[in-house]
Amino acid sequence: MPFKAVRADKTDAGQDVRFAVMEESELMDGDVTVRVSHSTVNYKDGLALSGKSAVIRRFPMVLGIDLAGVVETSNHPGFAPGDEVIVNGYGLSETHFGGYAEKARVKGDWLVKLPPTLSPAEAMAIGTAGYTAMLCVMALERHGATPAAGPVLVTGAAGGVGSTAISLLAGRGWTVIASTGRASEADYLRGLGAAEIIDRATLSAPGKPLGKELWAAAVDSVGSTTLANVLAQTRYGGAVAACGLAGGMDLPATVVPFILRSVALLGVDSVQRPMPDRIEAWARLAVELDRTKLAAITHTIAFDQVFDAGRKILAGEIRGRTVVTIG
Ligand code: NDP
Repeated sequence: MPFKAVRADKTDAGQDVRFAVMEESELMDGDVTVRVSHSTVNYKDGLALSGKSAVIRRFPMVLGIDLAGVVETSNHPGFAPGDEVIVNGYGLSETHFGGYAEKARVKGDWLVKLPPTLSPAEAMAIGTAGYTAMLCVMALERHGATPAAGPVLVTGAAGGVGSTAISLLAGRGWTVIASTGRASEADYLRGLGAAEIIDRATLSAPGKPLGKELWAAAVDSVGSTTLANVLAQTRYGGAVAACGLAGGMDLPATVVPFILRSVALLGVDSVQRPMPDRIEAWARLAVELDRTKLAAITHTIAFDQVFDAGRKILAGEIRGRTVVTIG
């Protein structure tokens, strides 16, 4: 049966990204075929949907870095028809057809079984952004950071990673400081558990190599000057989990916070993350993420609205997380 997908094709002028009708025979190699029910819109999806970014590394490409759905056919010993599954990353929308399609064929080794207490829509409300927020929490905890050490800063607070990180960290007993450019979202951020809201402008101008020691830990999805200032204002022995570049991919920092305050910069990648961490992250999300808060950060759109959502996430106009109903 033909199915609907968002497909990017290479053209003389660059990229042509649009809805296309595709055949199952066009799907890429893999041992599991999934009927996709839901996907989501992450910042990276916005970049790919724009048709102007280098996210896509082979053409044609089906977009969507996340998917949730039901196994239709499987030659993988770990999965059988009817299993509900999630895929994040692993090159979806970069080198392998992704989740903006009613059908996907992937490697069974990439699949995580949907935790029994999560629906496919809830899993995509979490999506790569929420799962990355949990990877950041895990990175801080593995470093030994605890709420007793002092407050934790979350940058890009009203975005997908930021909103989920606030909810998770507040739930773990942290005092959360939320940095946002949207003062209008203060009530929303307090509702997620933020104790204090700061204007992101206080972090975006070039600062000193060392500042006042304001937080014991941080989750940063912004990068650039913001991350440099976050490091400079982290307390002695603290840690910063860095996962994003919403403010830029440069890092105009000095080594001073590392060598004078033993501050640790913890890099967080979600795409090639080994399976044990994925399983741990999803299991913890299913238990620790407050569902009322998850509902509060989520809005749902139809498949046809995905281009509009992509434009809005790049413009910083999306609050929290977006679920896309695929089929
Ligand atoms: P969102 O667009 O939902 O959130 C990003 C937030 O960053 C915005 O809501 C805004 O928050 C803030 N922001 C945007 N532009 C700027 C700017 N110029 N300066 C300062 N702050 C800014 O994106 P996601 O939460 O989905 O992703 C966040 C980042 O994390 C992205 O860069 C993404 O690529 C990256 N990421 C990386 C992953 C990994 O594997 N390492 C996985 C997932 C995401 P506010 O309005 O509150 O100021």
